[in-house]
Amino acid sequence: MSELKTYALSDLDNWTFEGTALAVLGHPIKHSVSPQMHNAALAEMAKRDPRFATWKYFRFDIAPEDLPVALEKLHARNFHGINLTVPHKVLACGLIKDITIQARQVGAVNTLLRKGTEWVGFNTDGYGLANGLREDLKRELGGSDMVLLGAGGAARGAAVECARLHSSSLWIINRTAKTAHDLAALANNIDPNMRVTVCAIQDVEKLPHGALVINATSAGLKHDDPLPIDLAALARPAGVYDMIYNPPETRLLAQARALGLPAANGLSMLVHQGARALEIWSETAPPVDVMRTAVHSAMKAPA
Ligand code: NDP
Repeated sequence: MSELKTYALSDLDNWTFEGTALAVLGHPIKHSVSPQMHNAALAEMAKRDPRFATWKYFRFDIAPEDLPVALEKLHARNFHGINLTVPHKVLACGLIKDITIQARQVGAVNTLLRKGTEWVGFNTDGYGLANGLREDLKRELGGSDMVLLGAGGAARGAAVECARLHSSSLWIINRTAKTAHDLAALANNIDPNMRVTVCAIQDVEKLPHGALVINATSAGLKHDDPLPIDLAALARPAGVYDMIYNPPETRLLAQARALGLPAANGLSMLVHQGARALEIWSETAPPVDVMRTAVHSAMKAPA
């Protein structure tokens, strides 16, 4: 695969690309496989619809303090759609006026669509999670007992989706109790019929048998991180989904497999949140299989 260029804010001053431009903004951004995933999808879509032959997805390293001016310049340069990743998702929520209710509830935006003189903001992470669970674990958020580890941005997206899709119960476990309680209040507000409980890590024996465990903490990104939960200490879960996909097997997933539990990492979530974003931009069903293959090969390629 040819080397992917990472663009900077200053590159927008001399932007000459004449096709339909899409981009991901992050800081850092070099690790992002979104360009490979989206450009593979666009190449496939162009085989059926020549309109997409002129579409291209770029990546930009944008510092958080430069986000407001970057969004202005990208709009002025006719970019059609933007993805936002760390640390921009929450920041953008304060900059974009037109945001879906669901993204407003999450408090984070990961997809922007150009509309008139403005950007419209969406959050496709919850959709990505629900579809990733379905694909990898054959489970639905709706009607399930959910154990959610974490209360940061990714966990907020998961909790809002659990409430929107009416999970049976939601058990939130987080190192910092205050944010867990804030998230419980948010979920309860969206679906007052869903049982929401904040559970202390030492009380895991209270968790229901057959629950789906979702790791939305960043514990597992580094190989010496602690386990976010000891799966052996709780009633047997139906499955374990770790939103982390790099490394592909965290200690949590290794423990799940050792216990014989269905388990999956967050690659499918990444693919489906991207597919939903591309659907918003293109108003066409994207080739999810092509996106999945592109992500898998990009993850294997040397950094
Ligand atoms: P945030 O920084 O917003 O939240 C981090 C969460 O992890 C907090 O709840 C924090 O607890 C907890 N945490 C951090 N370190 C530890 C630890 N050592 N032990 C226990 N808990 C810990 O990050 P995000 O929510 O944005 O991301 C969380 C994870 O989800 C990341 O690994 C990210 O890669 C992944 N992710 C995957 C996506 C995908 O498409 N697959 C999409 C988005 C995120 P506390 O509140 O106490 O600080």
